[in-house]
Amino acid sequence: MGHPLITVDNKVRLCSCPRCNSDKSKLVFRTPDRPFPSQEEFFASRCLDCGLLYQNPRILPEFLPAHYPESYAPYAVMKLPMDEEGLWYLKHYKGYENINIRCRLSRRQKKRSRWNDNTLLVPEFVSGGRLLEVGCAAGNRLASLRDLGWTKCIGIEISEAPAAVARERGFEVITGPIETAICSIPDNSLDVIVSRFVIEHLENPFPVIKQLAGKLRGGGQFLFSTVNIDSPDFWLYGPHWFHLDLPRHMVFFRKRDVEAMLDHDFRIERVRYEPSYYDYERCATYRLMDKGAGWKRVMDILVKLLNGRARRLWVFLAKRGFASRMYVECRKR
Ligand SMILES: [Zn+2]
Repeated sequence: MGHPLITVDNKVRLCSCPRCNSDKSKLVFRTPDRPFPSQEEFFASRCLDCGLLYQNPRILPEFLPAHYPESYAPYAVMKLPMDEEGLWYLKHYKGYENINIRCRLSRRQKKRSRWNDNTLLVPEFVSGGRLLEVGCAAGNRLASLRDLGWTKCIGIEISEAPAAVARERGFEVITGPIETAICSIPDNSLDVIVSRFVIEHLENPFPVIKQLAGKLRGGGQFLFSTVNIDSPDFWLYGPHWFHLDLPRHMVFFRKRDVEAMLDHDFRIERVRYEPSYYDYERCATYRLMDKGAGWKRVMDILVKLLNGRARRLWVFLAKRGFASRMYVECRKR
């Protein structure tokens, strides 16, 4: 098997499957770093034993920081959106009894609030509870959770610059790779762990999930999001899929991979999907930049023109699980 097309140079190396440890894999994609172009190519392969798609050969850790420049979007300071429908949902279904709702909501709005995007990654409220965000960046989510009543919030962040910003905003932040930073947190001490689009950046998220489970008390909540390849934008765009994001992303999950990863320590309560408001447009942009031709080029131009009007379609598909941004709510067993 192996990878006959690749000469493994000193920037990448072959690695075994993060899920099953198999060395047998088949090369599926080779792409440049699309958001930050250079001459190099990076690779994704599918495990021939368990089917997991993962970065292989994988970039060596010492070359990764160059692919996270200061302009990397998740480091920006911003206020996360929240609206009356989201607040209503949190008050009535997630235990945030102190929330004041300023206007009356119609029956339709109340019904719709179950799908409110702003409540993704907001845990059930635990009075006086301890909450950790893995990959807290500049503390945007911690600030939003503090506004909702969480008083004991800490973060883990690998990059010093955004971590310093989060500290200025009043949060305790441990800097370093999650695999080592988590060790300074006592076992069974947390009520909640949240993490937004972080685990796909880890060399091997499978053992990290076990480490996180050890830090939660029994029944503690773990809410996270990650990329999902059981999604039409992946099927349509493959090497131009926005969330391939090589070489930053290491693992590309199917729902069954996530279930296998959580099965031992967690009970999954709900899986939601964020509508693909921007994803198809970015996929189309990447493919047009590669000078695609024929019907694909026509499709990409149409997607770029019409994507903004497809809001209802993205919501419809996301409610049925057809979107590439997956949000999992689970509890420690
Ligand atoms: Zn495998």
